[in-house]
Amino acid sequence: MKYKPANHIQDLQYFGEFGGVNPSISDSSTYTFLSAKTMFDTFEGNQDGCYLYSRHSTPSNLYLGEALAAMEGTETANVAASGMGAITGALLQLCKADDHIVSSRTIYGGTYAFLKNFAPRLNIKTSFVDITKLGTVEAAITPNTKVLYCESVSNPLLEVADIAGLSEIAKKHGLTLIVDNTFSPLSITPTELGADVVIHSLTKFINGSSDTVGGVTCGTQEFINSLRSVIDGANMLLGPTMDSLRSASILKNMRTLHIRMKQHSKNAMFLAEKFEADGFRTVYPGLESHPSHNLFKSMMNEDYGFGGMLTIDVGSLDKANELMELMQERNLGYLAVSLGFYKTLFSAPGTSTSSEIPEEEQIEMGLSDGLIRFSIGLDNDIERTYKMMKDCMETVGLFENISLN
Ligand SMILES: *Cc1c(COP(=O)(O)O)cnc(C)c1O
Repeated sequence: MKYKPANHIQDLQYFGEFGGVNPSISDSSTYTFLSAKTMFDTFEGNQDGCYLYSRHSTPSNLYLGEALAAMEGTETANVAASGMGAITGALLQLCKADDHIVSSRTIYGGTYAFLKNFAPRLNIKTSFVDITKLGTVEAAITPNTKVLYCESVSNPLLEVADIAGLSEIAKKHGLTLIVDNTFSPLSITPTELGADVVIHSLTKFINGSSDTVGGVTCGTQEFINSLRSVIDGANMLLGPTMDSLRSASILKNMRTLHIRMKQHSKNAMFLAEKFEADGFRTVYPGLESHPSHNLFKSMMNEDYGFGGMLTIDVGSLDKANELMELMQERNLGYLAVSLGFYKTLFSAPGTSTSSEIPEEEQIEMGLSDGLIRFSIGLDNDIERTYKMMKDCMETVGLFENISLN
């Protein structure tokens, strides 16, 4: 792939008010105008370079937004207070009552709950489909469908979406293809493959320090302007606004994203190969055994690897819990939801991040009880980590009944 997302981020150059090497942080909720006429024009949304009120935009949020747009190769971007703030805003901007969405069924639990339980209150209905089957996706489209929604690498099952194939379907039926790229920043550039809108939870890899929630919507200037419209913009009117102090902090963390992603991917690849060789059912897009390994390879920006997320199945929830507690006790990581931290994080998705999904549906999509989701950390010595993890696995008796898996 020719796209060089990290180069595009690095090529941005912003100085602070006094020549500082970092842009100044805008510490104001409201902005003065030299003339009343400019204020009117800014309200009308046609005055570049003027700020009105911080729920609409701030210099700090625009800096971060431009860096994320550079990463995703879109015209511009709008940052939000959380990933869910970005997702719900984009969906509500594109859909009105009686509209329909076709979504992958293996998506983030919060997104699933929004589409399944909340959007129907507004008479927006969703069909959940197996996103890896393009025929099924197309068959679910109705005359009212407006949006095709997926995650490039899904949470928690790590299914990979054929973004180019989905884009073809979206174009044929006049739909907007929204891709949540939270699991694969830098590795996959969805717009290169035809996505219309790219969303991230900045909470995860991009910020990378588990100290805040945040989100972003990357898209055309026209779409981002519509989100911010004072008349009918979902982000402007629902108000999921990121604070400027926080966006300045995320921008600084984002500068090391390429180095971190390489290390997350390298460590995850090492552990995935070891776990698989040890006999665990291991899901990692970098493994040849992954059903979409070649698809991921064909889409990826090679430098950044296959990402930091992997799952293993240890047979039962009890074993999973025992293992996770022991690994935490031995300081191999934290029993916590979320991802993209310097420490390894692990959780059992069936009882945590995907608990919004009813049990029968979990079974149908292959979300088993003994599944542990790992977000692999930045460990300097991953061999030592592996040895210590293997020791934990032996201690909880996993190798005695591994044939059961
Ligand atoms: C965490 C997450 C979200 C939600 O983001 P928040 O910042 O927690 O609101 C959405 N999509 C994916 C894939 C996620 O992992």
